[in-house]
Amino acid sequence: QLHAYLFSLFIIITTLPPPTTSIRWVSKSLSPNETLISSLCTNPTCIKKASSDYGEMVQDLPFGVLEPSSVSDIALLVKSSYDALVPFKIAARGNGHSVRGQAMAKDGVVVEMRSLNGSSSNNGGIGIRVSWDVSLGFYADVGGEQLWIDVLRTTLDHGLAPVSWTDYLYLSVGGTLSNAGISGQTFRHGPQISNVHELDVLTGKGELVTCSKTINSDLFYGVLGGLGQFGIITRARIVLDKAPNRVKWVRMIYEDFSNFTKDQEHLISILGLDYVEGFLITNNTPANSFFLPSDRSMINSLASEKGILYCLEAAKYYDDQNITTIDEELEMIFTGLSFKSGFIFKKDTTFLEFLNRVRNEELALKAIGQWDVFHPWLNLFVPRSRMMDFNQGVFVEIIQKQSKGSGVFIVYPMNRIMWDDRSSAIIPDEEVFYTVGLLHSTSDIENWSIIEEQNEDILRFCDKSRIEIKQYFPHYIKKVDWMKHFGNKWKVFQEMKDTFDPKMILSPGQRIFTSE
Ligand code: FAD
Repeated sequence: QLHAYLFSLFIIITTLPPPTTSIRWVSKSLSPNETLISSLCTNPTCIKKASSDYGEMVQDLPFGVLEPSSVSDIALLVKSSYDALVPFKIAARGNGHSVRGQAMAKDGVVVEMRSLNGSSSNNGGIGIRVSWDVSLGFYADVGGEQLWIDVLRTTLDHGLAPVSWTDYLYLSVGGTLSNAGISGQTFRHGPQISNVHELDVLTGKGELVTCSKTINSDLFYGVLGGLGQFGIITRARIVLDKAPNRVKWVRMIYEDFSNFTKDQEHLISILGLDYVEGFLITNNTPANSFFLPSDRSMINSLASEKGILYCLEAAKYYDDQNITTIDEELEMIFTGLSFKSGFIFKKDTTFLEFLNRVRNEELALKAIGQWDVFHPWLNLFVPRSRMMDFNQGVFVEIIQKQSKGSGVFIVYPMNRIMWDDRSSAIIPDEEVFYTVGLLHSTSDIENWSIIEEQNEDILRFCDKSRIEIKQYFPHYIKKVDWMKHFGNKWKVFQEMKDTFDPKMILSPGQRIFTSE
């Protein structure tokens, strides 16, 4: 009954029209600029898209949606708000793949960054431009609205590619740089925010500022991992390297967590591999289509017997030059690892197929109506020194034994030294730390609330056990929790807000400066 009541409340709240006062304020703020106000899309299709995201758990209705055809359109919008008596909120929406409304702007204006896509430099857009410079080497100037898949395809045409990735490529450059952008390459190259030379940022004052490590460096580092709080990224200059042709992609199964993490940590300490990740295999999260059907059933029956298995995933890139030696090189790298004998599985694939691997899963889930469902995700960074406690308390006692949800449960280590402490991203204070992604999905509203309760249990467990986790894609209701999250970076973060977005216009969906 409670769930039925909560559900009806959810429907009522989420379908309410925006309050008329805010309509008045946005219209009034924009009134000197008739062209701009008439260009805002307020029809139900625009509003629906801008008030939803991948999480499917939050719905904040904006007053209107700007579909810019140039960076100047966005600058005009931000300036109108900044100059208004009562400024209205503005959120850049990259590809809307946040899960808790981070790219929404209740009663304000959402900027659909993807509308800039296709704009050539002739009509105001940036697109994707590959260049070379004696001091930087190869790099790409990329519009903040671009998807990483398009960056990959374009740079591959030049035999080049960025070095740091996310697992899934249908995310925008501005969106991932506002967080960190991590994947199995992070141990080696750092997150995506460690691989940017320069940015163009439209601040909350409506000023377009070019920044880098040496020019306007406070804005540069503040925006990287800055959760959209200081400005809208309209261009990023991304580090490129020569692209390999092919990839050896390997998975190994472990029964023992201690051996699994020992091997992961060993692999990220040597420079032999290009990618190291890992994930859990349980009854609820069985081995997937990477494995041949016969291997799959062997692994899944072992998982049923043991309750939980750990899968180490590694990759090494190669080219025509080392085509004859690559297998030998891999064998040397894997010598001495403690995976279960006979449980090593290999694939040979193209570089593009490897990087774009999640796309196939997306299409398969879409085909069965399981992509656009609730995603009560919890993403954490966990200090290496507490991983054994985390495994017992969370993976075994909560995830495995309570067996409440399904999805993908990722766990892999990274080297802190590859992160720049001057960025706004928040990570644990240990040389090696793990990312744990509990990527639940469910189409059942009751199950959604059960998983949310489980997430709360996990956070409570960490708190009680004094495991100093940091949330990735942080989500807090109270200001005191945001302050705790940022720790000694909070003061600077707040000062940056006062400097670059003093009227608190940008990215209200993060709820950092609006929380009590
Ligand atoms: P949005 O959700 O649209 O925006 C995110 C935030 O950034 C909002 O606050 C928004 O206002 C702000 N923003 C958007 N564009 C700009 C801009 N140009 N300038 C300034 N601020 C901006 N993340 C990883 O790190 N690694 C992964 O492997 C990974 N895998 C994922 C797989 C899937 C299936 C999904 C759904 C997400 C995954 N993510 C991963 C999370 C992803 O990085 C975040 O959701 C991120 O926000 C990018 O999504 P987006 O481009 O759609 O941004």
